[in-house]
Amino acid sequence: MTITPLMPVYPRCEVRPVKGEGPYLYGEGGEKYLDFASGIAVNLLGHNHPHLTKTIQDQAAKLMHVSNLYGSPQGEHLAQRLVDLTFADTVFFTNSGAESVECMIKTIRRFHVADGNPHRKEIITFKNAFHGRTMATISAANQEKLHDGFEPLLPGFTYVEFDNLEAAEAAITDRTAGFIVEPVQGEGGIRPASQEFMTGLRELCDKHGLLLGLDEVQCGVARTGTLYAYEQYGIVPDVLASAKGLGGGFPMGACLATEEAAKGMVFGTHGSTYGGNPLAMAACEAVLDVVAEPEFLEGVKATGDRLRGALEQMIGNHPDMFESVRGMGLMLGVKMTDKVVSRAFVGWLRGRGLLAVAAGDNVMRVLPPLNITDEHIREFVDTLSAAAADYEIPEPA
Ligand SMILES: *Cc1c(COP(=O)(O)O)cnc(C)c1O
Repeated sequence: MTITPLMPVYPRCEVRPVKGEGPYLYGEGGEKYLDFASGIAVNLLGHNHPHLTKTIQDQAAKLMHVSNLYGSPQGEHLAQRLVDLTFADTVFFTNSGAESVECMIKTIRRFHVADGNPHRKEIITFKNAFHGRTMATISAANQEKLHDGFEPLLPGFTYVEFDNLEAAEAAITDRTAGFIVEPVQGEGGIRPASQEFMTGLRELCDKHGLLLGLDEVQCGVARTGTLYAYEQYGIVPDVLASAKGLGGGFPMGACLATEEAAKGMVFGTHGSTYGGNPLAMAACEAVLDVVAEPEFLEGVKATGDRLRGALEQMIGNHPDMFESVRGMGLMLGVKMTDKVVSRAFVGWLRGRGLLAVAAGDNVMRVLPPLNITDEHIREFVDTLSAAAADYEIPEPA
């Protein structure tokens, strides 16, 4: 037997965390890491946050799971809270990002059935998007590496250039149901959509009777300095998928929708065994207690500006290696030059006790917990700068 007990689908690195405290992770041998990856934009309060940990402990001792067969005081309370905080009128709770996007796809298709246009099935999505790893969500993204060996894909998705409004408009037919777009592409390389693009998509949806679905699984939940990124574009979606940071490390997600958009989602159309269980609801309530406060959100913006400024200053000293810094709030990406592969450099940083995440377009993602201090920023940028100074740029082949 050569297969590992853990199905070998991840090229796992040498970091083997067993404990976390704030923005620090500790490995099996006591190695310490400054964690500016946050489990890929998940641990937005860092590790072992007292309020989140205590809330989960208390709820676990009370009630973890029942079933969606029963009334849910916990789900009703959290759904109302999300409705009050966002554009949405209604919420479906899931266990992951992909499931939130699945619910969004189903909501968009069912809307047109309920609206008397059942032929409207096609969803327009964007190149270099990432929407998850289920069959529907890999079908929704154009990336070959996600599709390889898993065909036949689910039909009904058309891919067009990201941030290209003309291409988006040209792709609309009488079978189009809506768009699904990440306001800030995450895996694709921290690429914020332009204001014109987001406003334009909203206008196209209004003009053609389409639904605008936002995948805010990575950029949502305070990461960009507003509870959801759409707020900064001054537009309102019809449906939105959320997850990652939503449980602060507890696996949970949500699909948010307006009453009109959700009009096809009636009894029996969708479900989940775990979705919305009391333990997940408690975790999310604890996260919102902290991150939905206006002062906290202002703090994320300010901290993001300072981290970005420090990174921009630092990259000026290493023009061979770094090209630019981009992103919004504390969702930042450092674009590497042609001479350096972001994945290799992120590996080099691990050896220096820094955790970041590689992304598409040769970008290094910097996704710290949202409650970091200036001290942590200094430690990150100083160590990063020293690591860059020591990095041997590979000779051109
Ligand atoms: C991570 C991610 C997903 C998938 O989330 P999972 O919890 O891994 O299923 C979907 N969309 C975006 C934008 C993501 O970043």
